[in-house]
Amino acid sequence: MNKKKVVIIGGGFGGVRTALDLAKNKNLQVVLISNNRNFEYYPGLHKLVGVSHHAVASVPLEKILSGKAIEFIFGAVSSVDTDKKIITIGSQTITADYIVIAVGSQTEYFGISGLRAMSYGLKSVAEAIALRNHIEEMFQKHAHTEKTESVVGLHMIVVGAGPNGTDLAGELAVLSRQLAKKYNVTETLVTINLVEGAPRVLPMLSEQASARVAKRLQDLGVEVLCNRDLRKEDGWTVEFADMKIGAKTLVWTAGITTNELVKNISGLVLGKKNRVAVDEYLQPKKSDGTSIANVFVIGDVADTPYSGLAQTALYDASFVSKNISSSARGSALKKYIPHPNAFNIGVGPRWSVLVIGKFTSFGLFPYIMRTLIDIKYFLSILPVGEVWKLYFDNKVKN
Ligand SMILES: Cc1cc2nc3c(=O)[nH]c(=O)nc-3n(C[C@H](O)[C@H](O)[C@H](O)COP(=O)(O)OP(=O)(O)OC[C@H]3O[C@@H](n4cnc5c(N)ncnc54)[C@H](O)[C@@H]3O)c2cc1C
Repeated sequence: MNKKKVVIIGGGFGGVRTALDLAKNKNLQVVLISNNRNFEYYPGLHKLVGVSHHAVASVPLEKILSGKAIEFIFGAVSSVDTDKKIITIGSQTITADYIVIAVGSQTEYFGISGLRAMSYGLKSVAEAIALRNHIEEMFQKHAHTEKTESVVGLHMIVVGAGPNGTDLAGELAVLSRQLAKKYNVTETLVTINLVEGAPRVLPMLSEQASARVAKRLQDLGVEVLCNRDLRKEDGWTVEFADMKIGAKTLVWTAGITTNELVKNISGLVLGKKNRVAVDEYLQPKKSDGTSIANVFVIGDVADTPYSGLAQTALYDASFVSKNISSSARGSALKKYIPHPNAFNIGVGPRWSVLVIGKFTSFGLFPYIMRTLIDIKYFLSILPVGEVWKLYFDNKVKN
């Protein structure tokens, strides 16, 4: 029997899960394409910047795919012909029976002057390491400089009090204390601001949960400024509506948009944050209301109610894997039912807020749960021995 060929674009949460699920189906030929040889575990990036000993943020795809019936192609897809099912990677083209688009999202700078060039981000391991190195350099450099220069050099501004910015600000507060000790810097020279355009931190949570998180940040020494949108950044001065702040570190976590590859795929309809409009099977919708058959869009790229979370990407991956297997054997496709997520958001080391429906919990217990969820996830993609090595033979710093 001729095997149907499934080509999955993107080696992140959604793409890896789809590939692993479909590789179990002996009637399918599975190809995974990614422009990164590593799977980047974004929820671990804050720890990579901060003080954690066990920062698991990256795993080679080779390890995850080892022994599995999956062909891996390293390369950046530049376009996809969704009608003819042709994928282009540089000068190479490959054909498919089914295509899964799982290329994730990227940072959006909204055209704010100076922002792209002068800010740090937290959307990859490389960005996390660059930020950590920069902060360490600032403490080293400003240990003995004149007071005004130190105050600017040791002022860190995180823009965006969503889950990423909030967790990062907490990590920075604890990291700064450690670095101040290490480089003999007076702690009062250090300032950390978390700036948010909305009236409160973590605006997606209840007011009560948001207030509790704001208190935790305050206890850690983070100064929270709400109702402020960033206007301009020139590397020294960060400008908001009511003030200019001299700061050498600006981390931008407030903008996200779909991966630019989707703009090179003709026939797609793009919605909010450039997410791809999909039908009830996660197939792209055309502007005439019909769907593109045998192409599936999952995770951050898909315009679904809970898009933008790893949990959603994993859920979408399992959903399309089952449908592709059904379709390949001639069965009908099932309809997608969006799945609401629980939130477990870290706020600095060993503290997080957990929200499941009406249940909310704060502190160490949700943090332990979060760690167990991380480990459970790695166990779903790697053998136990590899997970052990990741957590216990992988002391990154300090
Ligand atoms: C710092 C941070 C912390 C987060 N924490 C959490 C959390 O705690 N919980 C949670 O649920 N979500 C969290 N998220 C969100 C979550 O990581 C994303 O929703 C999830 O990664 C989306 O999965 P995906 O498969 O759609 O895309 P991704 O995981 O981003 O994978 C996309 C893949 O496509 C590849 N790719 C991109 N372009 C191309 C191309 N042209 N050709 C080939 N390959 C390409 C990329 O290299 C990458 O491997 C966090 C995000 C960040 C940035």
